[in-house]
Amino acid sequence: MARIAIDMDGVMADTTQQFIDYYAKKYGVEVNRETLNGQPEASGFPHDKEIIRSFLFEPGFFRTKVVIKDSQEIIKALCEKHEVFIVSAAIEFPTSLNEKLEWLEEHYPFISWQNIVFCGSKTIVQADYMIDDHVKNLQHFKGEAIMFTAPHNINVTGYKRVDTWQEVGALLL
Ligand SMILES: [Mg+2]
Repeated sequence: MARIAIDMDGVMADTTQQFIDYYAKKYGVEVNRETLNGQPEASGFPHDKEIIRSFLFEPGFFRTKVVIKDSQEIIKALCEKHEVFIVSAAIEFPTSLNEKLEWLEEHYPFISWQNIVFCGSKTIVQADYMIDDHVKNLQHFKGEAIMFTAPHNINVTGYKRVDTWQEVGALLL
């Protein structure tokens, strides 16, 4: 049994799609996901990064994200075999706390509140594995860091990388 720390945004919840959907709703332009490849998160849209980032502070942004494919069934299976913690640096967006809890409750009802860790810096986290989409979270991790592919990290090297939850399952189940 291993302890696995799993990030929410960009790993369980499709933040990229939410930016695209919010942008389309506001500005009537459907941005192609591929055009965001290799750009910092929230960049690559016709409007400035600051405009896109402001979506993060709108009520509902974190509550209505789409679940990333296969994450529910694979995480459920991981919970049966390992010690799984959902670890989100949610404190950066204080209004997201309730939304994130409700979102987890809706889509991953099998995860106990005791296995949910909302924090500031993830440097405090000790586990055997950390699955995350951001270098800033993975780089200080003492266990095995696993980068979950997102458009913003597509050119990052030096980490074990998974593109899908099926790959996570093949690795850890
Ligand atoms: Mg993330």
